[in-house]
Amino acid sequence: MPTELRRNRAKRRARALHFLNEDGMVACNPRDREAAHRAEAEGIATENQQAVTCRKCWAVIRRMDRLELPPYPRG
Ligand SMILES: [Zn+2]
Repeated sequence: MPTELRRNRAKRRARALHFLNEDGMVACNPRDREAAHRAEAEGIATENQQAVTCRKCWAVIRRMDRLELPPYPRG
């Protein structure tokens, strides 16, 4: 895939909703408190599992709860 395309893709993905775990950390980056603050400040963090669109967070939720979730978020 050409670099240009990949960059555009990354941009579209930038608004993915991340999952905040019970420690208040983003599930895909649980050691980075700054990332959690940023995500909250930008309104791209949620505690609603059903609303998560970040694939990494999604994968963490799947592992955590062993839910019968599809491999990727909808949309
Ligand atoms: Zn995430």
